[in-house]
Amino acid sequence: MQYIGNIIRPPSEADSIILQVTVGCSYNKCTFCGAYKEQSFAIKSEQVVDEDLQFARSYCRNQKRLFLADGDVLILSQRRLIEILLKIRKNLPWVTKVSLYGNARAVRNKSLTQLQELKGLGLDRIYLGLESGCTEVLDLVQKGETHETMVDAGRKIRQAGLFLSVTALLGLGGSVLSEKHAKETAEALNKIGPNQIAVLTLMVLQNSPLGQRAASGDFILPDSQQMLRELHLLISGLNSNRCQFHANHASSYLPLAGRLPRDKDVLLRTIENALAGSVPTVPESWRAL
Ligand code: SF4
Repeated sequence: MQYIGNIIRPPSEADSIILQVTVGCSYNKCTFCGAYKEQSFAIKSEQVVDEDLQFARSYCRNQKRLFLADGDVLILSQRRLIEILLKIRKNLPWVTKVSLYGNARAVRNKSLTQLQELKGLGLDRIYLGLESGCTEVLDLVQKGETHETMVDAGRKIRQAGLFLSVTALLGLGGSVLSEKHAKETAEALNKIGPNQIAVLTLMVLQNSPLGQRAASGDFILPDSQQMLRELHLLISGLNSNRCQFHANHASSYLPLAGRLPRDKDVLLRTIENALAGSVPTVPESWRAL
């Protein structure tokens, strides 16, 4: 496979074929994100993608899922996405599920009918980076979205019948907006009703704009206790929508996973025990992005 730059994929795509059809992120302005900062956005040529499909046809016959990289593949034109999905179906008929990252802007650029059309051609799952349901926090990190636009994007994906995995980022509001961030993120998630919620914990990259703000004292990252209180508040605010819940990313101070609403009380109790010191948390040096 002919990969360019860092290939970033969700943890749940660890066993998937990774077919890179774009390079980087077309937005690339979020101040906390260093994923593609060194990379200009590009759409890979049909020839290169076709060659990778031929490689996968020969060497990836046991992988039933495929993830389309990079950052926001949904930004591709409908024509190009249809072409890619049809070629996956033709060349890799054993692949049953195709997933991609789609940001809210890309979702907005697609009509409901277009999303349904992609689903009909094999697209199964969209990973949406909500990060926060708090407009103030989204502004702070230049996400370019609001509570409402994020909710609209998430709902549209669900209306299209696609599996929706939403990522939220603990600590993104800093110490000052910690509570507001948790409460309004829970509100947004309740309105969206995703199939899966993945909570990551912010690790500030020194070379990012947010890192520069942190260095100047303008942004104060919550400490581990405040991160746990934020997580507790977020989970407490989630209503009874059924979904998978993961807060077991390598960045987490307290790896947690379960199904909501079934495991809500257990998750909350575990956090309370960690805050009280009776459940160990992950040491700072073990955390990773
Ligand atoms: S967080 Fe997502 S949308 Fe923002 S710059 Fe990073 S990859 Fe792009």
